[in-house]
Amino acid sequence: MLGKTLSSCKDMDMNIHLNTPIEKLTRVGKITSDRLTKLGISNVKELLEHYPTRFEDYSKVISLNQFSVGEIGSIFGTITSIEQKKTSRKQMKLTEAYLSDGTGEIKIIWFNNPYITQTIHEGDTIAVAGKIEEDFTGLLMKNPNFEKAESLEQTIHTSRLVPIYGATFGITQKQIRFLITQALQATEEFTEILPDKVIIQANLRSKIDSINNIHLPKNSKDYLAAQRRLKFEELFLVQLLVEKSRNNIKTSSAPKIEFNKDKTKKFVSSLPFTLTDDQRKASWKILQDLEKNYPMNRLLQGEVGSGKTVVAAIAALNASENGFQSALMAPTEILALQHYKTISEILPTKKIALLTSKHARISNSSSSTDTPLDLSPTDQTDNRNNIKKAIQDGSIDIIIGTHAIIQNDIIFANLGLIIIDEQHRFGVEQRKALKHRSTDAISAKGRSASGWHRISDSADNAPSESEISSDSTPHLLSMTATPIPRSLALTLYGDLDISTIREIPKNRKPIQTRVVDESNRDKAYKFIKQKIADKGQVFVICPLIEESDALGIKSVKKEYKKLNEKIFPNIPIGLLHGKLKPKEKEKVMNDFNDNKISILVSTSVVEVGVDVPNAVIMMIEGSERFGLSQLHQFRGRVGRGENQSYCFLFTDSKNPQTMQRLHLFVKARDGFEISELDLSLRGPGQIYGTEQSGHFTNLNIATLLDSDLISETKKYAKEILESDPTLKNFPTLKSELEKEGRELHFE
Ligand code: ADP
Ligand code: MG
Repeated sequence: MLGKTLSSCKDMDMNIHLNTPIEKLTRVGKITSDRLTKLGISNVKELLEHYPTRFEDYSKVISLNQFSVGEIGSIFGTITSIEQKKTSRKQMKLTEAYLSDGTGEIKIIWFNNPYITQTIHEGDTIAVAGKIEEDFTGLLMKNPNFEKAESLEQTIHTSRLVPIYGATFGITQKQIRFLITQALQATEEFTEILPDKVIIQANLRSKIDSINNIHLPKNSKDYLAAQRRLKFEELFLVQLLVEKSRNNIKTSSAPKIEFNKDKTKKFVSSLPFTLTDDQRKASWKILQDLEKNYPMNRLLQGEVGSGKTVVAAIAALNASENGFQSALMAPTEILALQHYKTISEILPTKKIALLTSKHARISNSSSSTDTPLDLSPTDQTDNRNNIKKAIQDGSIDIIIGTHAIIQNDIIFANLGLIIIDEQHRFGVEQRKALKHRSTDAISAKGRSASGWHRISDSADNAPSESEISSDSTPHLLSMTATPIPRSLALTLYGDLDISTIREIPKNRKPIQTRVVDESNRDKAYKFIKQKIADKGQVFVICPLIEESDALGIKSVKKEYKKLNEKIFPNIPIGLLHGKLKPKEKEKVMNDFNDNKISILVSTSVVEVGVDVPNAVIMMIEGSERFGLSQLHQFRGRVGRGENQSYCFLFTDSKNPQTMQRLHLFVKARDGFEISELDLSLRGPGQIYGTEQSGHFTNLNIATLLDSDLISETKKYAKEILESDPTLKNFPTLKSELEKEGRELHFE
């Protein structure tokens, strides 16, 4: 509707539809269409779904006999003169025009835009939008938006709320608005996917109305209503998926893993420490979940260093005692390796395999010593195949690796438990894929009899063995040290049960954190020397691998060289970053673990999980470049033993906001508090990278800060699924949910 009233589109006869390719629009050539493609826009629909990020309010029409200097708004009038000039000093091109609105006259100046004289001529009626200023020559407007217009009703760049679009890759705001006005002709083709009942009850505008008003609203009320409706729709879809996934899980069957009291007790007493109460509680919750006949879907969130690994080990131990394999997936090679070491050490009687794209090895269950494989290419392939076979025939109890490998590369004999470390969420589809690859082999051999028999005869309504082999879904435990702010946890991960470990083992001393001024750098180095003399170890974190001259950001390579050659020539120093070969990485990590290296200069690869008890100083260069949760992760790399530990934050930034943020971090101790700070300071997109946010990756206009709308949409989603679990009465909604890229199918 709106689109049609805006006649700035040259070719009004052309039919514009949602699927019209972008290059068919007026004034879109190769360059513009390439740029639009970069923005993810290839057709009219995608263009219309590219919403403005803000508005400039030029809706006030200023009359030249009644205004004040500094006023912002639009003037509509006739050009009385226009000419091209050069500024005297800088030889800049400028266009100078006079505009009369019948009540007065004002000078307009545009800099460096010589094309204006080709479009605007004396006698034209135009509208300009900007701020009225005054200098020694009199009243003027500098660089205003402008457009030819016969009346103010037609304007899109002036005398209204003017939309401003986000990243534009070289396309001007004016161009985008011009394209949008053409595209708006197709808005009527948008289908209404929200059920009528929801639209009425939640008091929402129609989709068509909202698309029009999100781009060119008459007033802010219309804009806000459009924004609410579009956010509502996105969040409603997410909540339907979350609720559906929760329901699906509850109705699928899972391997029943019974609590083995004796073995668990024995394991716990073999540990060199006693479990904290929170560790006990979390383990107990998990063990109870494992006994149910539907799959566990639990998120274990625990403060950095709170000891989540051992809780996971208890779960894996019990799975194995019931004849099921566990897969532990880590986000990085380094972490997979570390888990492999830890778990083989604390569960010496279990057969444990490590499989990443670069490593393949099996722990030796009889002697408990690790048998590293020769990684020459042929051996590696052989070993890899042998390990895969051993996983497939069920002789491996626990498989540890990186996500990619475990997801894509392995057939399990009888996978009962999936443990995901340091990732908020693991998709339903991924779990399904794993499940299917475990069933192939199930009817073969390798299933330890105890597990399967127990399932078949455990409860009256237990599914028969054959049913289980095709339907059983592994239990899932995800672990994270980046806790989700309380306010979001329930609504955001509504399909997960959550356990929290807040308690840090008792022997730890709080880490002393300081923002260190550049003038105290030498002192910090002296302090480091002292600590190293006492066998302490130090992390130095830099934001980059190679130096970026342009930005002057510190890089590990340069910092390593400096520390190695100038500052600490007599101290063994290691270098770690993502581009090293896996063997090199492993060697550095091992050397650091064994205290052969005293200082580890590293990029953020050490961010998650790495556990070196002797490390007492965490020194972070360019600390302003990291998010608070990330800094908290770094800080969590020290203070794991009994010694007092320190975290030093260096920064070149003088920005007061940055300094305030860092000082907030110095005081904040608890990961929850920090994630909430992060959320309020930086917004959710920064914290929850796309990989971590699962269902939420499709958000275009809504954000995780819309907590009221999240709860509201959740309520409607629940209601609708309760009355119609397969959405058979809502075919458009259903097909929207089943679109490619969504995680779930509504059978
Ligand atoms: P995170 O929760 O960050 O993954 P880890 O599982 O890596 O923490 O454990 C951190 C360190 O704390 C490890 O060295 C582990 O052995 C140790 N640890 C775990 N639980 C306890 C405990 N109850 N008491 C003392 N140390 C513990
Ligand atoms: Mg961990």
